[in-house]
Amino acid sequence: MRETAALIAEWEDLLTRRPAFRESLGLYGTVLEAWRRWSPDGSPVLRWGAEQCRERWERGVSLIVEAPPAFQREALEPLFAPLLEELAALGEATAEAVSRFAAAWDEGRVSPSDLFPGLPTEGGEAFGISPDLLSLVTYLGLRPPLEAYFAEVRPVFSGDFWDAGSCPFCAGAPSFGDFGEDGKRWLSCALCGGRWTIGRLRCPFCDNRDAKTLTRLAAEDKEEGYLIEACDLCRGYLKGVDRRVRWNAASATIEDWGTPHLDLIASRRGYRRATPSLIRLVSPGG
Ligand SMILES: [Zn+2]
Ligand SMILES: [Zn+2]
Repeated sequence: MRETAALIAEWEDLLTRRPAFRESLGLYGTVLEAWRRWSPDGSPVLRWGAEQCRERWERGVSLIVEAPPAFQREALEPLFAPLLEELAALGEATAEAVSRFAAAWDEGRVSPSDLFPGLPTEGGEAFGISPDLLSLVTYLGLRPPLEAYFAEVRPVFSGDFWDAGSCPFCAGAPSFGDFGEDGKRWLSCALCGGRWTIGRLRCPFCDNRDAKTLTRLAAEDKEEGYLIEACDLCRGYLKGVDRRVRWNAASATIEDWGTPHLDLIASRRGYRRATPSLIRLVSPGG
């Protein structure tokens, strides 16, 4: 993946800033290394023109829904194998679930397209793996091929075409919410790497726009600029960074991975993430 070298540098820098996480978050280093080695050669690419994309976006339809990629199982092996190995090392129960998933994968009972969260699927229960674990496997295993798949349609996206909380490309839920230097609120998708904007006072999960039930927790002192935006109606939350305060913050994916302490704060207050995180597997229920 072309941008992986930059992500690896950002991740190293983050672990230097937050050395306490180096061991517990070691899995992400392995994942980034697998992403770096993976070659997009021969992987499908969506070749729609601007009009084709725009027509879907204006109907509120994410591209993946009408153009699901046909990823080849074998091409994904170099991404999934090291990831499953790291996950299996997290504990006995996880190791058993991972081996059930690996068996289903090897026997062809689960296909790559079964993993896309925006498309109808039987879900993880069918092969004995919890939704949290399946979702983490999906997000960490499919990012490089999805990023390659949408690479050619990214430049034709404009926020004017899209007014929804989910990703205009892969239909995934947002995983991080930044305030950019332009003052706009940017949402990021950790599944495909998509980005789009949304109104400042609006829950991307249930569309609640009532300030009275939208909660913002702003970190202070050394953590100034980091924030949690939560919704008291659907209990969803998003972590984020105000880049006008913290101009040197890393990309959304890296900042999300590197701030599990903020997930613990949100989860203790009864809020839930819509996207997977390692912390939920390591300490379920937070
Ligand atoms: Zn996406
Ligand atoms: Zn909500």
